[in-house]
Amino acid sequence: MFAHDILIIGGGLAGMRAAIEVPPGIDVALVSKVHPLRSHSVAAQGGINAAINPRDSWESHAFDTVKGSDYLGDQDAIEVMCEEGPQDILALERMGAIFSRDADGHIAQRPFGAASFPRTCYAADRTGHALLHVMYEQLLKRRAKTYEEWYVTSLVIEGGACRGCVAMNIFTGELDVIAANAVILATGGYGRVFAPSTNALINTGDGMSMAYRAGAPLMDMEMVQFHPTTLKRTGILISEGARGEGGYLINAKGERFMAKYAPNKLELASRDVVSRAEQDEIDEGRGINDCVLLDLRHLGRQKILERLPQIRELAITYVGVDPIEAPIPIRPGAHYSMGGIKTDTWGRTSIPGLYAAGECACVSVHGGNRLGGNSLLDTIVFGRRSAQHALRQIRGGGTPEPVGREHLERDRERIERLRARRSGERIAAVREALGQAMSEDVSVFRTRERLENARRALREIRPRVESVVVQDKSRVFNTELISALELSCLMDLAETIVEGALAREESRGAHARRDFPTRDDANWLKHTLAYASPSGPRLEYLPVTVTKYLPKERTY
Ligand SMILES: Cc1cc2nc3c(=O)[nH]c(=O)nc-3n(C[C@H](O)[C@H](O)[C@H](O)COP(=O)(O)OP(=O)(O)OC[C@H]3O[C@@H](n4cnc5c(N)ncnc54)[C@H](O)[C@@H]3O)c2cc1C
Repeated sequence: MFAHDILIIGGGLAGMRAAIEVPPGIDVALVSKVHPLRSHSVAAQGGINAAINPRDSWESHAFDTVKGSDYLGDQDAIEVMCEEGPQDILALERMGAIFSRDADGHIAQRPFGAASFPRTCYAADRTGHALLHVMYEQLLKRRAKTYEEWYVTSLVIEGGACRGCVAMNIFTGELDVIAANAVILATGGYGRVFAPSTNALINTGDGMSMAYRAGAPLMDMEMVQFHPTTLKRTGILISEGARGEGGYLINAKGERFMAKYAPNKLELASRDVVSRAEQDEIDEGRGINDCVLLDLRHLGRQKILERLPQIRELAITYVGVDPIEAPIPIRPGAHYSMGGIKTDTWGRTSIPGLYAAGECACVSVHGGNRLGGNSLLDTIVFGRRSAQHALRQIRGGGTPEPVGREHLERDRERIERLRARRSGERIAAVREALGQAMSEDVSVFRTRERLENARRALREIRPRVESVVVQDKSRVFNTELISALELSCLMDLAETIVEGALAREESRGAHARRDFPTRDDANWLKHTLAYASPSGPRLEYLPVTVTKYLPKERTY
């Protein structure tokens, strides 16, 4: 058994930001199933929001975020994020983050969707890459212990509190317990519930599933963000920065169709609004091969090369289009989980000793729809705050007490059963079936009929997930075994998404029901909580925290 004061599960921006908040003298460790620099945060493109310009204000950022969330975000949490955000950005700069600069040498900021001020700080279109590397340097400087390429299989809960986790050293296949006085989950999103998705293959929502199985509720899981600009077959993301820099969306007739749907903000309306507009254009026959077009040609060669170099490379490599010369075919694609493990503004979950931060958590600052650039800010602010609270909680905690061996034995047995199975379906086929069922019926527009289809499909897929065969019987670096474990996490989360979506009979944010097309504040201004039960997710509801922004009609 290993033991630490504070254990952080996840090496993306949220996890590393939490780790470097822990001062020397406190024993902090970080576990990650991939090298931390391979976490999905590295892929973030467009930027990170904060009101750092004196002409902007954090209150304006807070209002934009509340409105963007379609009033489902908790306003106290949004206020914390927007007020503390600017200091966190300056702290990143002092750590050495190479933000792009304006002509005066200040951190440059670009306009992003649904923002009333250009407040998205960026490093060209590789912001996540720039930030994650800076964070890793700080982690090395801090000399925190990292368990690199260790896969966490479950949380250790004793006496109702979280006491650590069980994890597999992927290199040897050995399982061990890592005990801790406080555990911070920073395991990222579940994008791979859908196929295709903008997310990395590793984004399988493991932490959400672990917390859910341990009894913590998942909140607002029906709120799935479909990003307006993704490439058709691969799902690869074309950053909102492309529209922030002035890109147009056009249909098959060459019309800038956003004028019809969002006359003021046009292409820079909120993501849910733009994705629905694109889907309407496509469904009504004004698309091209299930896509519309993102036109950057008028930005000119210079600006594209300087501000959007990665976007250009992606378009050339994956669809054979150079955006300097031709528009890029794009469509809405699964991108981000607004929902997650319910936490308060200090990252506390309902299980004592267990915190969650970043995309795996639901604080909730994004509500029904996240604004572009707010997720990176969420990881930094709440990664830091979770560590700060954990530090207060463990003060004087000493070496964690040993935990019972039964946790280790339970996971060992589960894995040995999986390894011993001789026949069954291959994992890839089941994962594909799951992703397609979700993309088909739980997409930009939803109806009871489609969601019931999805529910039936999941009931058929669940037993297939539980009987997959792992053909690789070896212990060393058995990635097939890991995929089997990840698949069962995806399955749990898909069920909570579908059940939450079926129950919510209104349209709010990214959850658009064709059969209930309007927002219904009288009945649905509330969060969905999903608890694990033997018969699947059990739903409860919780009021939304409203401080000063009363729900209004949302137009852009
Ligand atoms: C292509 C793309 C572009 C984006 N661009 C932007 C942007 O410009 N601006 C913005 O605000 N947001 C953006 N987002 C969203 C944002 O990048 C993510 O929400 C955010 O980076 C998530 O950070 P995280 O620290 O929560 O998780 P991640 O960075 O996903 O890290 C998760 C970590 O958990 C570890 N982990 C997971 N499961 C286990 C397990 N079982 N055992 C051990 N370790 C585990 C992983 O190894 C990894 O280290 C983008 C997302 C994508 C996909």
